[in-house]
Amino acid sequence: MKVHQFFSFSSLRNFEYLLEDESELYAVDPFNGDKIFAEAKKIGKPIKAIINTHEHFDHYCGNEALVKACACEVWAHEKARGKIPGVGRYLKDNEILKTIDGTYVKVLYTPGHTMGHLCLLLQNEGKDLALISGDTLFNAGVGNCHNGGNPEVLYETFRDQIFPLQDDVVLYPGHDYMKNNLLFTLNLEPSNKKAKAQLERIKDFKDGEFITSTIGQEREFNTFFRLDVEEIKSSLGDNTLCEKNVFLKLREKRNHW
Ligand SMILES: [Zn+2]
Repeated sequence: MKVHQFFSFSSLRNFEYLLEDESELYAVDPFNGDKIFAEAKKIGKPIKAIINTHEHFDHYCGNEALVKACACEVWAHEKARGKIPGVGRYLKDNEILKTIDGTYVKVLYTPGHTMGHLCLLLQNEGKDLALISGDTLFNAGVGNCHNGGNPEVLYETFRDQIFPLQDDVVLYPGHDYMKNNLLFTLNLEPSNKKAKAQLERIKDFKDGEFITSTIGQEREFNTFFRLDVEEIKSSLGDNTLCEKNVFLKLREKRNHW
């Protein structure tokens, strides 16, 4: 399965996606329905369904135009029931969507940013390939919990589902916040050479230019993966903090940063 990643050029810097298998497409979090429909036409395959990662408007605002254009179904997690208009199928935790080309799309229930949030884990022959992570995990950062979320639940999602992912899983998040997030990492951990090198790589990118990262890279430059690093704990002013409390303090600090 191929992942097509598009930058929305919105002020919130949303990414929107088309997942392509041998004969069909899934649209994930369409921001601009007309644009995504045009991209699907270029690829030349029908859109089987829209999948919304969660119930925030900027992740489903393209649904209406896309449904109008191609009459596809809208799918979302069952915990988002009643919060996204027009959903025709609710997905469960660990549900497997089998695609025509034999890859699997596994639905992960990942609450924390909101309580109706899912991620999609793309798998082939038992190997994890990529994570469509919505607003749970960003390049070098994690989602906030301002609008219907809970940071303690977000931590549990990371501990149980995100941290155990294999290093070569490629990350496809809901927004392009990589630059700011790397600056946050370097604010907490100024000696982090991997964060410096990644920032150097992307610092002159214009809107619409972006690169992906892997879970292995996230372990190196995403502060929220580095909960046992002494330099980060020192920056937070308390070297006795447990990993959960480092995560919670980082999330709190990022809210005002
Ligand atoms: Zn959101």
